[in-house]
Amino acid sequence: MAKLEILKFPDPNLRKKCKPVDKVTDELAQFANDMLETMYAHRGIGLAAAQVNRQIRLIVIDTRRPEDDSREGPEDDSREGPEDEVNERELRDELGEPVFEKNIAQPLILFNPVVKKKEGKITYNEGCLSVPTYFEVVERARIIEVEALNIEGKKIEFKTDGLLAICIQHEIDHLDGKLFIDRLSPIKSARIKAKIRKFGYSTDQKDDDESDKGEESKTPSEHRL
Ligand SMILES: [Zn+2]
Repeated sequence: MAKLEILKFPDPNLRKKCKPVDKVTDELAQFANDMLETMYAHRGIGLAAAQVNRQIRLIVIDTRRPEDDSREGPEDDSREGPEDEVNERELRDELGEPVFEKNIAQPLILFNPVVKKKEGKITYNEGCLSVPTYFEVVERARIIEVEALNIEGKKIEFKTDGLLAICIQHEIDHLDGKLFIDRLSPIKSARIKAKIRKFGYSTDQKDDDESDKGEESKTPSEHRL
């Protein structure tokens, strides 16, 4: 296993369109596991291959809450404090009670993911490991039907909602060279991009860890996708 470097906006490599995978080779399966390790290390809930500078259609996701999973989080699991648990609950309330999400086994490794069907609308305060420290409300489809290849190269299809549906749509955007900050109003999008280009990312709020030690600004829905 190896940790990979995550590209950040405005890196032009994030804008490339990713190519489908012909076959899930052992090397690609290993690469997908390296992506998962990288995602957990940065406390993200989703990561696309484009974000680690490989232009193939591959995404990894784990939206489970800390208390009902065995995610390999960082060694010091300080994020599982009581305050975080409350936040997680508030966050779920915001999304409504997902019906399909809990039936999907996670973590998910999806090659060539395609959304076959979309239903309804939902908004969510999205963040991204490639745009650290920024969170903005984005509209997505509420329920989606997805087709992909799993790590064994087998075709799978499933329907999901909740945070998982939002995350899958966010990650597929990455495969098409698109970021969540492209999905804001033109004025807001331009303002954020100009600000990042000018000032970079704030250093007092690191993107990988320790970011929730400060008392300010940890709103319920801060998830990096
Ligand atoms: Zn992202």
